[in-house]
Amino acid sequence: MSRDVVSILGVRIDRLTLDQAVDRCLEFLRSGRPHLVVTPNSEFLYAAARDPEVRELLNRADLAVADGAGVVLASRILGDPVPEKVAGVELAEGLLRRAPAGTRVFLLGATADSVAAAASRVAERYPHLVVAGYRDGYWRHFNPEADREVIAAVRAAQPQILLCGLGFPKQERWLARYLAQLQVPVCIGVGGTIDAWSGRTPRAPRWMIRANLEWLYRIVRFGRFRRSLPPLAGFLLLVGKERLRRVVRGRPRNG
Ligand code: UDP
Repeated sequence: MSRDVVSILGVRIDRLTLDQAVDRCLEFLRSGRPHLVVTPNSEFLYAAARDPEVRELLNRADLAVADGAGVVLASRILGDPVPEKVAGVELAEGLLRRAPAGTRVFLLGATADSVAAAASRVAERYPHLVVAGYRDGYWRHFNPEADREVIAAVRAAQPQILLCGLGFPKQERWLARYLAQLQVPVCIGVGGTIDAWSGRTPRAPRWMIRANLEWLYRIVRFGRFRRSLPPLAGFLLLVGKERLRRVVRGRPRNG
């Protein structure tokens, strides 16, 4: 399948609206073959700019959506805009809403309480789906025996959608490593979505989401100043530099 992508600091981001991204996931679902979907925000892209392994990981995905106002802004600064923000949580919700009746969903990640609450919320909100299983995200990741047990649990549930929220970049690394073994057509790294659904870390008020200020809400509400602000500033600085580089490279030479 050919992709129309924007390159932001070396990471390919699909130029799709939320609805189109859901369409793409539904195609993956119909294909029956395993696919990896990632939802990079500016923190992910900043990490990717500094670590080729992370960059390669994101570029292995079959679909990468622009999760966050920072990524949309970056695409505009680079003169190659994506149509809109596609938040991971909204992609997951759109997919669950539009998935055919009987589609099996597995939630993997967050604490046991949070994932159990999120699973019952999914069952309630999307009665046409089957919650095939759920499991917390605190086993020993990349320990072969522990991973084998989790993979076996997922496979036994036979889901068609796997929503994996272990935080970035663990969820992407884990999904990429085991994609073939998991045998799930749509595997999405969803970050804090499970906690958002369980109500553990609620989303911003609607007006803030609409005003593209959800990042600010998260920073203030959850005290993420140190965690989020330096990467955001670093990201925008690198994007500015990249823009300058492109301008200089694009300028016709004299003589
Ligand atoms: N998490 C997990 N296992 C771990 C580390 C984190 O299941 O070993 C979960 C954590 O409980 C939370 C999610 O991963 O539900 C990460 O949320 P965060 O808001 O940090 O996501 P991000 O900012 O990475 O999207």
